[in-house]
Amino acid sequence: MSKGWENWTASEVEDFQADFLMWYQQEKRNLPWRYNQDPYRIWISEIMLQQTRVDTVIDYFYRFMEEFPTIQDLAKAPEDKLLKVWEGLGYYSRARNLQAAAKQIMEDFEGEFPTTVEDIRSLKGIGPYTAGAISSIAFEITEPAIDGNVMRVVSRLFCIEADIAKASSRTIFDEAMRKIISQTQPGDFNQAMMDLGSSICTPTNPQCEVCPIQQYCQAYQENRQAEFPVKSKKQKPKDVYYVAGIIENQQQEIFLKKRSETGLLANMWLFPLEEINAARYTELQEQYDPAAWDLFSSSNVAEDSPDFFSDQEVIWQKKILGEVKHVFSHLRWHILVFYGRSAAPLTIDGRWVKPDDFPGYVFPKPQQKMLEVFENNLADDKD
Ligand code: SF4
Repeated sequence: MSKGWENWTASEVEDFQADFLMWYQQEKRNLPWRYNQDPYRIWISEIMLQQTRVDTVIDYFYRFMEEFPTIQDLAKAPEDKLLKVWEGLGYYSRARNLQAAAKQIMEDFEGEFPTTVEDIRSLKGIGPYTAGAISSIAFEITEPAIDGNVMRVVSRLFCIEADIAKASSRTIFDEAMRKIISQTQPGDFNQAMMDLGSSICTPTNPQCEVCPIQQYCQAYQENRQAEFPVKSKKQKPKDVYYVAGIIENQQQEIFLKKRSETGLLANMWLFPLEEINAARYTELQEQYDPAAWDLFSSSNVAEDSPDFFSDQEVIWQKKILGEVKHVFSHLRWHILVFYGRSAAPLTIDGRWVKPDDFPGYVFPKPQQKMLEVFENNLADDKD
């Protein structure tokens, strides 16, 4: 069989589905959200699985279900508690969207998870992939769930040359999936696709020799697996440079600043950051090289103080504690971490917090890394 999906006959489609579903029955992964067809559990797992590996998600999933066992519990949860449970998973807008959608379900659907693709799509944070996954798995609706894994499998199966990075290619994959998806077991079919994409038809070195759909796969027959999927290069993340101030007061409290309500890391607590340009970043690296400076200066603050946070009266340690890098999908943060002691009340909005109370705060990854740098330095000081 070596032809596009348009030319598959009904009996070829049937054979393909039977082979593929039999493989799924035998090999399916035992995952906690697969124990039943509860749409709430499926929804939470699908949102967690975006950008995150299955192994990582499992523990988070259990904890989330324990804290918020129902849609109602999620809808009324305090945001801080929700983000704390999500801490470490990243992409925190996912958690906020979950809660916004839970509130929508309480208000617009009388607390019952909606049962049509259109209604599911109307929920905040749910796109075509997630709507396809929930509707097919929970309600057996014949709706494809197409993500990057599935596009890879389908592009190889039919040697589809459309660029998967382009939104316009989606209709092609949608059409192909609608041709082959099982009408009677669409949920299992979609999950079989997900499993195959993550375990066998992997981005590099697909294991074609054990693939259950090998005999149907056009790329395999033509030995062109490595050519698919066609994907144009992503733009590189933009570099952004910061200095971070770990500022301590006389009560041994450290200053934290809350980020604004919208945008990246909204409402999270971080040490205060100040953006600088790339050239200044390099200069500071040279000027405050930790190998060259080690003294805590309490001399003339105005003259000795570096130029960042210049509107604050802080006596800075004349060395970089460490450098932190963190990549978001579109940005790469570079942070030089400095330590200072406040010489007068700060004029930045924020709060003084005892380090013992840090565990009560939601710290995103860059903040966790900065804290690690600080703690390592404290440990060094004690050596
Ligand atoms: S035969 Fe190979 S390339 Fe084709 S679907 Fe299976 S693993 Fe992927």
